[in-house]
Amino acid sequence: MSSRILATAFALTLALLLFLPGACRPAQEPDEWPVHSMERPRPPVVDPGPPGPPAPPPSDAIVLMDGSNLDEWLSQAGDEPGWRVGEGYVEVVGGTGSIRTRREFGDIQLHVEWAAPAEVTGEGQNRGNSGVFLMGRYEVQILDSWDNDTYPDGQSAALYGQVPPLVNASRPPGAWQTFDIVFRRPHFGEDGRVIRPARITVFHNGVLVHDNVAFTGITVHGREAEYRPHEDRGPILLQDHGDPLRFRTVWVRELTDSSPPGR
Ligand code: MG
Repeated sequence: MSSRILATAFALTLALLLFLPGACRPAQEPDEWPVHSMERPRPPVVDPGPPGPPAPPPSDAIVLMDGSNLDEWLSQAGDEPGWRVGEGYVEVVGGTGSIRTRREFGDIQLHVEWAAPAEVTGEGQNRGNSGVFLMGRYEVQILDSWDNDTYPDGQSAALYGQVPPLVNASRPPGAWQTFDIVFRRPHFGEDGRVIRPARITVFHNGVLVHDNVAFTGITVHGREAEYRPHEDRGPILLQDHGDPLRFRTVWVRELTDSSPPGR
């Protein structure tokens, strides 16, 4: 075989390799990171600016918490919640369990204001951990992620165990922080299979951290999430993870269930 033929064969092989589907992809797609991988790149830090006063609820919102009582809430078991009502806030009392709304919701816009403990104790997942669970199942993680490293799919505003936030827009411990969430419930077929996954858009302290992202399933720890069919409505749940987080304003607007199939 002449050197010219060899060179042509080499060039053709190279071209084929370069233009084969997937040949130019990075070795690991973002959604291929193992659950809770510490190798996963950290989202860039963004300073969201200082906190403001409590956001006033729009006229069509249901106020679930204004910092003065727990009238709209129950313990997970359905009893009176064990959390403490302070001066304009509600504080997690570790060990009393998570609390959930008496009302149940499907598609919603949700506003939540929270503050991690001003006194820092612990690190990683043991520092200012709580969470907002949509339909009691799909967690937007609350964590003190100010200068506190952990696995990116478990830092503040992560879809826990699934998707890290686009950026880390955390404020320092003790400062009031906000989540503004648009949540679209999942839809299941008659056979229980997912027709449409749950989708979510989240702003953390006014900064976009999830842009219409699909949950891969019901939130779990340490393994791949999966869906199990459930009712069209569920409570909003705030997590007791043992840390004395504070909450003040929580309000919700119910959205028309109008998103087209496939969205
Ligand atoms: Mg949590």
